[in-house]
Amino acid sequence: MDDQQTNPTTPQPETPPTSEQPNKATQKIGKIVVDRELCIGAASCIALAASTFELDSENKAVVKNPQGDSTEDVLAAAVSCPTNAIFLYDQEGNQIHPPK
Ligand code: SF4
Repeated sequence: MDDQQTNPTTPQPETPPTSEQPNKATQKIGKIVVDRELCIGAASCIALAASTFELDSENKAVVKNPQGDSTEDVLAAAVSCPTNAIFLYDQEGNQIHPPK
């Protein structure tokens, strides 16, 4: 006997909806602001994004060229700041870093 079993068609799992969560590293930075009151001159931002930040005569970080480094490097610099003195905004003015 050659009973053929009919395999019930396995329903295909639905593709989960792709999340449209903005990825920090790929967001375009619209504006970089250093809060001089918070900056302690630790210079880790400069170590990570030397073309974007520099220390001024008061040992405070300033933005010398907002397009000096890649978005990833600027974000890494902001994250590295021990006092969260670096504020990053996207093109629409929404704060990217530090997280609210
Ligand atoms: S890492 Fe932060 S505290 Fe250090 S120089 Fe840069 S902005 Fe200032």
